[in-house]
Parts: sequence; C-alpha cells; structure tokens
Amino acid sequence: MDYSTNKRKSTNNKKVVAVVGGGLVGALNACFFAKRGFQVEVFESREDIRRAKIVKGRSINLALSHRGRQALKHVGMEDTIVSNGIPMHSRMIHSLNGTQSPIPYGKKGQYILSVDRANLNKELLSAAEMYPNANLNFAHKLLDWNTETGAMTFVRVDGAKEEIQADLIVGCDGAFSAVRKQFLRQSRFNYSQTYIPHGYLELTMPPVNGEFAMKPNHLHIWPRNTFMMIALPNLDKTFTCTLFMPFDKFEKITTGNQVIDFFQEYFPDAIQLIGVDALKRDYFRLPAQAMVSVKCSPYHLGDKCVLMGDAAHAVVPFYGQGMNAGFEDCLVFNEIMDQLNEDFSAVLPEYTRIRVPDDHAIADLAMYNYVEMRAHVNSKWFLFQKYVVNF
Ligand code: FAD
Repeated sequence: MDYSTNKRKSTNNKKVVAVVGGGLVGALNACFFAKRGFQVEVFESREDIRRAKIVKGRSINLALSHRGRQALKHVGMEDTIVSNGIPMHSRMIHSLNGTQSPIPYGKKGQYILSVDRANLNKELLSAAEMYPNANLNFAHKLLDWNTETGAMTFVRVDGAKEEIQADLIVGCDGAFSAVRKQFLRQSRFNYSQTYIPHGYLELTMPPVNGEFAMKPNHLHIWPRNTFMMIALPNLDKTFTCTLFMPFDKFEKITTGNQVIDFFQEYFPDAIQLIGVDALKRDYFRLPAQAMVSVKCSPYHLGDKCVLMGDAAHAVVPFYGQGMNAGFEDCLVFNEIMDQLNEDFSAVLPEYTRIRVPDDHAIADLAMYNYVEMRAHVNSKWFLFQKYVVNF
C-alpha cells in the first residue's frame, strides 16, 4: 500500500518524514520536523500512553540537564517541562553512618531537574499532535523496511500488516531499534553492543506526613564500592530509589529478610524511609533490569534514513545523559538542516560526521565511569569522587 492511500490528516506539499518510535526522542523529533513544515508521521509500537493505565518505561524519573533543555527550548517546550520538574542543586551523599553531605552541581543557582519520564513523554506527544501537519500512529510496530524502496512494513495489534512509504525515515525506536537492523546488513557499518554485569531495580520512598522523606532538591546517592543506590524526587513527594548492583549480587538475595539484612548493612538510613514491609515486597516486584551500551557508525543510510537517540547510541546511565544526548541529536540535526537547506543527501552524512564523535564520547565517558567504579573498589575516596563528579 502506498503512503498516500494511508494518510490520516490532510497533507501539504512538503516531504513526508516518518519518525519510528514515539518515545522521548521520537516525540521531540516529531515537533522539530513538524515545526519545519514537513508532513510528519510518528509510528509507535505501544498504545497511546496518554490513555494507558500503566506506562512501562525504563525508569520512573530521569535527570534533565542543560543539553536536553536547549533542545526543548527550541520547540517551545522548555518552560512546560521545567515547571513540572524538581530542581536538584546538588548530589547528597549518604555515608554508611547516615551522614549526608551535599556537593553542588555548579555555581549557586545551577541545577539539574528530576522529571517524570511518562509525563515528559506524554507532554511531548501532545506537543507534536498540536501541529496540523503531524500524525501520531500508535500500535504500529515496525517489522522491517526496504533500503531500495524505503517502504516500511508495520504490524498492528490485530496482526494486520501495513506498508508505508516516506521520504525520510528517522529511527528513534530505542536501544533495540528495528530500523537499525537494515544498517547491520550494510558494508562498512560499525556496530558494538555491550551488556554490563550490573542491573537496576527501582523502589519507592513514600512521603512522611505528606512531605518528602528526605531533602527534595538533591539527587541522593549512597555510593557503596561495587554498587550504589540513588534517589530522585517526584512531584507526588515520593522518591524513586534506584539500586544499581551486579546481577549475581541481586540473585543472592532471595527472601524478604535477606533484603532487610542487606539494607541494614549498606543502606541503614533508607530502611525506615522506604519501610520494612514495602522493601520486602517491592524488591521482588520486578526482576533487575539489564543495561546495554550500543555504539554504531554511520548514523545514516543514503539520503533515506537516519538514527537518533538510543537507536544510535544507548549509553549506560551513570552520567545521566542518555536522553539529554538524544534530545541534543534533534537540535544538532535541525541546525544542519538549516545550514544545508534541508537537502537530505547532504544533511544526513554531515549529521553522521558531526554527531558520531560526540555521542561516542558520551558513551565512552559513561562506560569509563562504570568500569573505573569496579576497578577501584577499595578506594572509597576515588569512588566518592567518581559518583559525585559525574552523576
Ligand atoms: P526509548 O525511550 O527507548 O523510546 C523508544 C520508543 O520506540 C518506545 O516508545 C518504543 O515503544 C518504540 N519502539 C521500539 N521498537 C519499535 C518498533 N519496532 N516500531 C515502532 N516503535 C518502536 N537519560 C538521561 O538523560 N538522564 C537520566 O537521568 C537517565 N536515567 C536513566 C536511568 C535508567 C535506569 C535508564 C535505563 C536510562 C536512563 N537514561 C537517562 C537514558 C534514557 O532513558 C534514554 O536515553 C532515553 O529513554 C532514550 O530515548 P529514545 O526515545 O531514544 O528511546
């Protein structure tokens, strides 16, 4: 089926850009392309998360920093997102004896923001939908696409298949990108994927008497040599605590009492704040999740397709820069579109040339920090610095 027989809103004469993936980067990218006047079609495998009761994501909240904000600003979304974020002026280091020491992120007044992932995604989808030249197509999972014709094959929830054509395919479909599959078949495409031995698990710290259980304007960190816990505040006055730990250590803890013993040894101050019963229960609610680092190059295929966000560079989360770098991808691409008059045959290679070294540097820095952390298990001061300086 040709795209033109599939269109859902009236189109203009502009080229059609298909954004595959309506996650954080895809939704923002849709705004960028729509703002330029392209006919934008977003294809997202999930149902519309704005109507879903439970939204599955890779973390409840995340840290938004300068590079991400710059991209949001460009499409007029910075204020909306910032007003729903909680400023974190410093890391608050929790030592084993319960002492808390703040380390500022920068000069007075500088901060990063804790934002709710689901809300951020919903806001960006709604912003994209406001453009009359943008369509959101949910429950459309990309199966494959043809590099010769550019035709994409999607499968719907009922199993029906749909073939759609676009002038440009923008792969924003995350770390396990289906768009990227075709790149793997190309000569001179470099690709590497590394799973780290650590996993992560999220726990909720409820409010106490309607107020945050800890000081809210900090990113709380419990550095503990080979593992650590962090906590970011949420608007409902809870904290989401994330425990990063080697999988084999997760696997050794199999009962509620073992969870409490473990916390008693390493995070004693967090036990009462999370609650004994909640800890025993929530620790086993979901298995620890894996973390993968993906690097590839080039980011484009001819003048037809380009990768952005985690599809191009999934990074381990120890720098808090994965989404921020993905947002910056959109901004950089947009700048190159200005410079090269939206000529895809020139813009795409230039985007690869400019962006690959920067994204690879972020992936390396994130991985370096993780490796250094393991290599210096006995140097508490070193670890302290590592976590403190980089997260
Ligand atoms: P995703 O968020 O993975 O979105 C991809 C979208 O594509 C999804 O909606 C998916 O449903 C859809 N999709 C997938 N396959 C298909 C298909 N075949 N067809 C159609 N649609 C498809 N980053 C930060 O900047 N700051 C942080 O503090 C931070 N904390 C993190 C904490 C953890 C524990 C983790 C795991 C990551 C963290 N990150 C952080 C990284 C951040 O989550 C990612 O970089 C970000 O989600 C990337 O966005 P994306 O849109 O590229 O990919």
